[in-house]
Amino acid sequence: MTVSEELFERSQRVIPGGVNSPVRAFNSVGGTPPFIVDAEGPYVKDADGNQYVDLVGSWGPALLGHRHEAVIEAVHTAVDHGLSFGASTVGETELAETVVDRINRSATNGPAIDQVRLVSTGTEATMTSIRLARGYTGRDKIIKFAGCYHGHVDALLSEAGSGVATLSLPGSAGVTQATTAETIVVPYNDLDAVRTAFEKYPGEIAAVITEAAPCNMGVVTPGPGFNAGLRELTREFGALMIFDEVLTGFRASSAGYWGLTSAEEGGWAPDIYTFGKVIGGGMPIAALGGRREIMEYLAPNGPVYQAGTLSGNPLSVAAGIATLRNATGQVYSAIDRASSHLRQEVGAALDAEGVQHSIQSAGNIFSVAFGTGENGVRNYEDVKASESYRYTAFFHSMLDSGVYMAPSPFEAWFLSAAHDDAAMDRIVSALPAAARAAAS
Ligand code: PLP
Repeated sequence: MTVSEELFERSQRVIPGGVNSPVRAFNSVGGTPPFIVDAEGPYVKDADGNQYVDLVGSWGPALLGHRHEAVIEAVHTAVDHGLSFGASTVGETELAETVVDRINRSATNGPAIDQVRLVSTGTEATMTSIRLARGYTGRDKIIKFAGCYHGHVDALLSEAGSGVATLSLPGSAGVTQATTAETIVVPYNDLDAVRTAFEKYPGEIAAVITEAAPCNMGVVTPGPGFNAGLRELTREFGALMIFDEVLTGFRASSAGYWGLTSAEEGGWAPDIYTFGKVIGGGMPIAALGGRREIMEYLAPNGPVYQAGTLSGNPLSVAAGIATLRNATGQVYSAIDRASSHLRQEVGAALDAEGVQHSIQSAGNIFSVAFGTGENGVRNYEDVKASESYRYTAFFHSMLDSGVYMAPSPFEAWFLSAAHDDAAMDRIVSALPAAARAAAS
């Protein structure tokens, strides 16, 4: 028995499924999750001493790689001043200023964001954003897209991606019908369906929430003009547009997926952005932000309540500021280069084994859909029709070759600025065997 197997047996006795987030479980691919004891740069090491090149990156936060010197130093410095005060700190303001500045630097039609509220998880950010949209518009219904994941908010768990998709759940037990009755789920990349919903419920829809680019049913690229079309429709029908950049924010570009695409789509901006993952560089923090007139609806100035004992935690804020400060243009160029190199190599390896596939990308974020052909996938129905079962053999072959990937075909591949030539070579040399395994 390996050490990880022993530790997993032990954890299952006291932790449901042995994991504290279902996406970490190996239920859909089989086997035992390695217990990680250490991470540095592009590598993670398990309790048995195996070192892997990491393509999970803590599910997104590790943009700079693990244990980045400046981030660790910033946290050490913050620790020396105390762990949490439950009071205002200058760091919170600095992080909010950094977010506002980075977004507005990519805005082509005047400021896109004025204020930011810091919370502790992406789930809180999206939960608060829909409450804020409802409070601001005085309307109840929201539109979400099938296959998009916005965290484990009751109202947003209908046909959600990520772990819900991996475990083939339609939603979640324990979520009442009343909670989801106000959630209208429509197919992704389908503006006609959005218009139909608006026409069916005139004056009732508070917001459309969308992942900036869906990355939780595997990556699905928004079709040309899709996000801009959502902006137009929400404006036409008096609803807010909530742009969930928890995963893509400050990863797809220095201003997220929005920064990568909005300028060439007329410079539109959503009403509310949500951020997470990279803005904490591995510490628990997330945020929502938008124009002042909307954000001021939040308590204490406005009637929409939201709070958090650990919101704006000084250690998380310190890690976030250091991460964003070090997420330079070179960092994004390096990740973009590594991503395009890897996509090419994955494609070549799968082609060599005759495995039909398409590589779906949103900037440097990508995933592989098996059995879909050139046209790829446009929505959750396409994803469900793909040959996702091929991922199991692919995944285990990669793991055996020392590459740690998400145990689900519906998650993105995360690269970091620390993925140097040695790490990339290890991944690339693992691909032929993995492609062969996927073919069989
Ligand atoms: N929104 C998106 C797009 C996400 O990918 C996630 C998490 O993966 C969330 C929201 C929820 O974030 P958290 O897991 O921090 O609650």
